[in-house]
This record gives sequence, structure tokens and C-alpha cells, in this order.
Amino acid sequence: MKRILVTGGAGFIGSHLCESLLAHGNEVLCLDNFYTGSKANIRHLMAHEAFELIRHDVIEPIILEVDEIYNLACPASPVHYQYNPVKTVKTNVMGTLNMLGLAKRVKASLLQASTSEVYGDPQIHPQPEEYWGHVNPVGIRSCYDEGKRLAETLCMDYFRQNHVEVKIIRIFNTYGPRMAENDGRVVSNFIIQALMNRPLTIYGEGLQTRSFCYVDDLVNGIQRMMNMTQAEFIGPVNLGNPTEFTIRELAELVIQLTGSSSEIICLPLPADDPRQRRPDITQARDVLHWHPKIALEEGLLKTIAYFESKLMRQRYKPALSAARS
Ligand code: NAD
Ligand code: UDP
Ligand code: UDP
Repeated sequence: MKRILVTGGAGFIGSHLCESLLAHGNEVLCLDNFYTGSKANIRHLMAHEAFELIRHDVIEPIILEVDEIYNLACPASPVHYQYNPVKTVKTNVMGTLNMLGLAKRVKASLLQASTSEVYGDPQIHPQPEEYWGHVNPVGIRSCYDEGKRLAETLCMDYFRQNHVEVKIIRIFNTYGPRMAENDGRVVSNFIIQALMNRPLTIYGEGLQTRSFCYVDDLVNGIQRMMNMTQAEFIGPVNLGNPTEFTIRELAELVIQLTGSSSEIICLPLPADDPRQRRPDITQARDVLHWHPKIALEEGLLKTIAYFESKLMRQRYKPALSAARS
């Protein structure tokens, strides 16, 4: 049994990871400051005797004894990471530094959740890991993009200078149950809008592309990466689904799958919004023997079912509380 620290463990991806690590017989320390995550995401794990919750902000040092660290703490949606950009930089830089200092002290392996955003608005398509990216250092996305790039730099310097066992994964757009309803990401926005028969808000013409990975596939890839031994592979490695869609195609598919009567409207495109994104997953296939198995339609149906029951609970909550009182 390993003792595993998951920072950002109460978030969307983190909560699925905690669940899977527990199911594999590990002891899990879930560390979170609830900036964008929630107790609701991990409530079902609280009774598990191998699960522990630590309310803490990674920008402050912390002393723990662990075997492995999955460093996921960081708001991921543009709306959330741009809300307090200085905090986003602190979380990425000071938070990662603290986790690397901890990993160094206890000789733990550290897996860093990096992102496709390190490629910025890419000029090479699809994006292989060797591509250095096309990132605006002074734009509204820079706090996240450059923060994550510096976090990768810190990992590599702790590896070279202090021999910390690091693993770097670059996650491409991931979706699934427990995405925060209010975080403004495209999949959750479109599903909620469709379920409420409100217009689906496409930013720009909807011709920009993304490649969407279902969370279960991603969590499998994350654990495969951590379980590689140091000499084998430290990354960075792309993890994502290589099937690419335009945002308009996504909107149309969500309307079809929900049976919604929503229309589609176009709103202004935010600054520096990447025009295209698709991972080259050759390395993940060859080295980790990993590839995503869940197609967009199947994953969307599971995500729609999650939001449907969540909206239903909210709709009937006032009536239920009144009935109880
Ligand atoms: P999320 O916002 O649901 O989860 C992030 C979690 O980190 C939340 O629980 C939040 O409360 C916590 N957190 C934030 N700042 C913190 C701090 N200073 N101290 C402690 N906890 C803090 O986002 P997610 O989609 O689950 O993303 C998880 C990780 O994966 C992030 O590092 C993100 O950058 C990365 N990632 C996600 C995607 C995606 O498509 N979901 C894509 C690329 C990279
Ligand atoms: N750190 C931590 N927990 C630990 C060990 C270190 O939070 O168990 C923090 C430490 O406070 C520092 C950072 O990690 O801010 C980097 O630590 P390191 O030992 O590499 O550098 P130094 O403390 O010498 O600057
Ligand atoms: N987007 C959109 N409508 C929305 C939310 C997002 O058209 O309601 C677009 C956004 O402009 C971007 C893409 O969908 O081009 C993916 O956005 P998201 O915030 O999910 O993630 P990103 O990949 O930009 O970090």
C-alpha cells in the first residue's frame, strides 16, 4: 500500500484520480483549498478508511510523509484561472516548488499535471511533445500558460539538480462528470445550456477546434505514467484524445444527444483563444501503451446524465427542504 498525495484532489480530475487510487488499494491524502473544487466531489470517499482530506493551499509549505505526489492543484478553466491571475501564477510556481521540495525531502515521485496550453496557439498541428509552442507571455491566458511552463521547468531542474523523480504529463481538453457547473468550459456550458433549452453560446464562428478526452481514459493514462520507473520515461508526454472537432460540431452533437430545442448563438471570441488543438499521442501509445477508448458521443452521454441529475436535484431542492421542515 502506497501513501499518495493528490493536490487539487477535490477538483474534477483530482476526485476521479483519488477514487481510482483508492480502488487500487492505496492510501490517499487529498489536499485542496476548495478554490474551484468542492466537498461534494469527494463526499462519497470520506467514509473510506484509507482516505484523508487536508484543507491547505499549496502556495504554503507543508510537511507530510508520502511515497508519491500527483500535483494537480490549479484552476483549469479560463474563467477561473483569469479571475485572479496573480494567484494562478503563485499556485503554479510556488505551489509546484513546495511540492517538489516535499518530494525531494521524502524521496517521493512527483507527477506534474501540465497542459496543452504550453503549446499556446500552435503553429504545428497536431502537437508533438518536441514542439516548443507559440505562447503570448503578456496576454490574459499567460498566467496559466506561462505558469504551467515554469512549473515544467521547475520539475526538470529538480530532476537534474536534485534527482527528484518527476513525471510530466500535458493534458488536453478533458471532460466528464464533476466538471464544475459554473466554470465556463465549453463541454459543461453547452450541456447545461442544452438541458435548460437556452441558446448554446459559441465564441467566434465556432471553427476553432479541440480534441476531447473522457476523464476515465485520462485517469488511466495518468496512473500509467506514474507507474513508469524513472529510467524508463519522465516525459513530458501528451495525454488526450486525438479525434478533433470544431466547436460548432460539438454544439450540434450536444443538441442532438440531449434532444434540446436550443438554438446556437455566436458571441465574441476571447483574446488569444487557440485556433486549433489536437495531441500527437505517438509517445503515449508507444511508451505507456495507452490510448483513449471512449468516443465523444459515449462520454458526452455519461456527462449529460450527470448534469441532468444534478440540475434535477437543484430544481427540486427547495420543495424537498420545505417538505422536510
Ligand atoms: P479543477 O478546477 O476542477 O481542479 C483543480 C483543483 O485544484 C480544485 O479542486 C481546486 O480547488 C484546487 N486548487 C486550486 N488552487 C489551489 C491551491 N492554491 N491550493 C490547493 N488546491 C488548489 O480543474 P481540473 O480540470 O480538475 O484540472 C486539474 C489539473 O489538470 C489542473 O492542474 C489543470 O491545470 C490540469 N489540466 C486540466 C485540463 C482539463 O481539460 N480538465 C486540461 C489541461 C490541464
Ligand atoms: N517544502 C515543503 N515541504 C517539505 C519540504 C520543502 O513545503 O517537506 C517547501 C520549502 O518550504 C520550500 C520549497 O518546498 O519553500 C522548496 O524546498 P527546497 O528544500 O527545495 O528548497 P529551499 O527550502 O532550500 O529553498
Ligand atoms: N467556448 C465556446 N463557448 C463556450 C465556452 C467555450 O465557444 O460557452 C470555446 C472557447 O472559446 C474555446 C473552446 O470553446 O475556443 C474551448 O474552451 P474551454 O474554455 O473549454 O477550454 P480551452 O481549450 O479554451 O482552455
